[in-house]
Amino acid sequence: MSHMVVVDLEACIGCGTCRSLCPKVFALRGDPRKCLVKDPDGDPTDPACLEFAMDMCPTEAITWQGG
Ligand code: SF4
Repeated sequence: MSHMVVVDLEACIGCGTCRSLCPKVFALRGDPRKCLVKDPDGDPTDPACLEFAMDMCPTEAITWQGG
């Protein structure tokens, strides 16, 4: 089983940082806004953006799961 990107929706504050940094992987939806993982495998064309988004998330809501 491979790693999957998951977002803790309790922790997510919908700031949009992840979408700005990695728009192929993250989107925002709902009211209140929450992160939506569009591509749990990450963006193979730009794996660094996902790691950067994880680092920059203000609530550390984005993690890898599985493996
Ligand atoms: S950067 Fe973190 S807190 Fe902000 S929208 Fe993305 S998952 Fe939510």
